[in-house]
Amino acid sequence: MTTNETLHVVNPATGEPIITLPAASVDDVTKAAEQARRVHDAGVWSRLPVRERGAVLLRLADLMERDAEILARLDSEDAGKPITECRTGDVPGAIESIRWFAEAADKVFGRIAPSGPDGLGLMCREPVGVVAAILPWNYPLAMTAWKVGPALAAGNCLLVKPAEATPRSALHLAALAAEAGLPVGVLTVLPGYGREAGAALARHPLVGALSFTGSTATGRRILKDAAESNFKRVSLEMGGKSPQVLMADALSYGDELIDNMIEAAFLTMGQNCTAGSRVLVHRSIAEEVLERFTAAAGELVIGDPADARTQMGPLINHAAFDRVAGAVESARVDGAQIHPGGLPHGLPARGAYYPPTVITRAPEGSDVLTKELFGPVVTVQTFTSEEEAVRLANATEYGLAASVWTRDLDSAFRLARGIETGVISVNAYSEGDITTPFGGWKQSGFGGVEKSTNAFEQWTREKTIWIRTR
Ligand code: NAD
Repeated sequence: MTTNETLHVVNPATGEPIITLPAASVDDVTKAAEQARRVHDAGVWSRLPVRERGAVLLRLADLMERDAEILARLDSEDAGKPITECRTGDVPGAIESIRWFAEAADKVFGRIAPSGPDGLGLMCREPVGVVAAILPWNYPLAMTAWKVGPALAAGNCLLVKPAEATPRSALHLAALAAEAGLPVGVLTVLPGYGREAGAALARHPLVGALSFTGSTATGRRILKDAAESNFKRVSLEMGGKSPQVLMADALSYGDELIDNMIEAAFLTMGQNCTAGSRVLVHRSIAEEVLERFTAAAGELVIGDPADARTQMGPLINHAAFDRVAGAVESARVDGAQIHPGGLPHGLPARGAYYPPTVITRAPEGSDVLTKELFGPVVTVQTFTSEEEAVRLANATEYGLAASVWTRDLDSAFRLARGIETGVISVNAYSEGDITTPFGGWKQSGFGGVEKSTNAFEQWTREKTIWIRTR
């Protein structure tokens, strides 16, 4: 199937068009997959000595460093993310990811089985071959780098489909990879629509593994498409509804606590898979926490993402605005109390700016407490015991991340063990660093993790070689 469709990239802050690109068709996906297969079989990358693969990726990291400001601007303009967030978070994180996996390339060892004297069992890690990544728009470059680093270090040929709204940083990354000496066909970026190019990747018989980051609903479709095609290996990093648990002594951390809460709730305008969108606070400190948290939210600098002082920009588009506004209105109808923040005067009318909003007294089990909103909206619930905190924290189908605040080590450890999430941070809002695995539990994740050497499991297959010994 061919397509005449085009992708229209629009600046979410102003509504101004940025660029129009041809959208990759099903045919384009097939051609790219066939080329990738030929390149893989030719061995120009898969059989290149592993340290040489690492060297190419290190050159790529250096070129990203050179173009860091360009990359930051591309993501800021396409996604409406504050430029400072891109400069200090997304871009350095992406460079670190490529560099770390470049250096890890030659440190992935196989295993030897403890068999008897009759045979030698070798378990070898091999690249899958042609693999694919489908990406979201909220961390365009960072998520691309989490996949490109380990997929290429492991020796695969990778097809990348960026999100419709944010294709430019992935395209620039591919240009830098070519400049770094990556052979043609090893990394192919296919900007296109999910229902067409994305679904074609999920169904393509030549794609042996697919790593997806995006919503749980899309993840479910991809898994179904994989099962109905070639049973490609699928890894899904999906949505979240992450709790921030504040025990009775949490305020002893003072402004550090409030600053972390604000970052957890409002980074990337709350359009963050690990957003700490549910505050669970011990009743004894709830009033003071609410007062300080809403006051701090009111001080956030909301405005033009290109301005280095801006802390919050617009939502990705007006459909997202309507979805968030609708969910807040439903919460109000359900009996919740809404504490809307303000927006400064003079914001561009075509930018989908939504104020930081805090919701209290939402009825237990209501949508606003259980469904991912993906916007700058935070609920606050109170508890009186550790058991109740764990029960509330787990009262959602998601299990991506959580944070816990207390000086009581025993309590922190019990909470960390009791809360069902893939990642939990104690006395910080954090996903860990590049050395720690990142992946969701329950309906937040499936099949593999990002970061750390564990990420190689998504992109390699283990082969058992049995050698009869005499
Ligand atoms: P989305 O699911 O709408 O889109 C993600 C990608 O999937 C896009 O590239 C899209 O084109 C593609 N897609 C859509 N339909 C498809 C189909 N039928 N087949 C194949 N591909 C298809 O998600 P989004 O709105 O771009 O991103 C927001 C979501 O991503 C949130 O739920 C967020 O929590 C999640 N997210 C998760 C993580 C994580 O690491 N767990 C990180 C970032 C974002």
